[in-house]
Amino acid sequence: MTSGEEMISPGVGRRYFGESESVLVPTQAAPFRSLSSLQREQRACTRCAQAGFIAQAHPVFSGHAGQRVLLIGQAPGPVEQDQSRPFAGRAGRQLMRWMIRAGFRDEADVRERIYMTAMTTCFPGRRPDGAGDRRPSAAEVALCTPWLDGVLALLRPQVIIPIGSLALERFLPGRRLDDVIGRAFTATGIPISGSPQVAPVLVPLPHPSGQSRWLNDPARLELLDRALGTLREMVEWADPAG
Ligand code: SF4
Repeated sequence: MTSGEEMISPGVGRRYFGESESVLVPTQAAPFRSLSSLQREQRACTRCAQAGFIAQAHPVFSGHAGQRVLLIGQAPGPVEQDQSRPFAGRAGRQLMRWMIRAGFRDEADVRERIYMTAMTTCFPGRRPDGAGDRRPSAAEVALCTPWLDGVLALLRPQVIIPIGSLALERFLPGRRLDDVIGRAFTATGIPISGSPQVAPVLVPLPHPSGQSRWLNDPARLELLDRALGTLREMVEWADPAG
């Protein structure tokens, strides 16, 4: 296949963007034979512990190869680490309420249909001042990026949901939450109106954590409403049998 050539997403028959169109959503970056072999290796990863960023590595993510929606948060918290389950804590409960507003039946439906990972998949620890969880550094994100690249290349999701500003910076760099929440974008950052022609589609959401101050402004609740409506449309497009 030549660089930039369209690809067909397996089992869907929908056009998938060519590899040269976006370095942010790789399609051929995976040295792994399968998603399950990537997951086995990721679960054993200790890069950030070896580099001294965290005391102990405990990668947290969930999903399987049949899923068409990929959700990418910032990093797991202590509850997620304890339960080995993404979005298991208070922010997760808020996220599940949002997802039900976006058309999912319940939490089990969300977890069955969405692959969940993060920009760094180990708990980064608390902030030095104790006010919430630490935001992973650029160096930690760089160490964890090959895992995310591998998931993108192997899963080939139809819908990608970057959650919060750290994931947004990866997929729509330089954009502000205010400018993107409520809208859908192509893999190259072009706003989509109407039914998408090419997968994957990006649908950003704010972070549901209480640490995020973005939602404190009541005007933004309207943007969130719009985002959940957009997500509903895109998930129905990507996963009509869901
Ligand atoms: S955050 Fe990612 S790169 Fe760092 S130890 Fe965990 S899995 Fe490995």
